[in-house]
Amino acid sequence: MTFGVAENLEKIRGRIEQACRRSGRGVREVRLVAVTKTVPPDRIAAAVEAGVEILGENYVQEAGRKRERVAGPVAWHMIGHLQSNKARAAVALFDAFETVDHERTVLALQRHALEVGKVVDILIQVNAAAEPSKSGLAPEQVLKLIHLAAGCDHLRCRGLMTMPPFFEQPEKARPFFAGLRELRDRLQPLCPGNVKLTELSMGMSGDFEAAVEEGATLVRIGTALFGPR
Ligand SMILES: *Cc1c(COP(=O)(O)O)cnc(C)c1O
Repeated sequence: MTFGVAENLEKIRGRIEQACRRSGRGVREVRLVAVTKTVPPDRIAAAVEAGVEILGENYVQEAGRKRERVAGPVAWHMIGHLQSNKARAAVALFDAFETVDHERTVLALQRHALEVGKVVDILIQVNAAAEPSKSGLAPEQVLKLIHLAAGCDHLRCRGLMTMPPFFEQPEKARPFFAGLRELRDRLQPLCPGNVKLTELSMGMSGDFEAAVEEGATLVRIGTALFGPR
């Protein structure tokens, strides 16, 4: 059952390395988030054994069922849309929240993180192509949410996340990746002193090389690692 995960990881790492080389980046600047929605715990465990250090889950309940069954030093990132009524359960399960796009969510995360004495990392999700079907803030709304998060002592705002439209040709996603980096560069000087926007979470199985070339520090990869869902 677990055949292939280690081999796939090796291949993906090689491709990330090549993309780093092409763009003059250090390979340690890029970390892989293994996206585990629908993937059973034994396959996830195999990935962790093969060296995966970050898992990305889309659903709070699914993560809850799996968390106990996946051992090892691994960070859990929430990459799905978070409903604020699930924030309490989510804070108990996750180390980082990559899809924060609402005041309500910021405040709920702060409140529950304070309750349990935990500090969680957050990324602000940007809807780079202004797609009505997608979550995320318009670029001009991001700074306001950063300021709110900066005042929350149990949150650390670490950067931005985006999910561009799906294209058959990954090159078409590139302008959205470059756009997220440019937005980060533009916003950083306007941020409160305690906020360093070091992380750019962008790129999935079909387009992660373009994302790395444009500055991704977190690539979220499911299919290329675990096979089709
Ligand atoms: C499912 C998912 C991914 C991974 O997609 P693949 O194409 O399988 O690599 C990345 N990010 C988010 C937010 C997802 O929901």
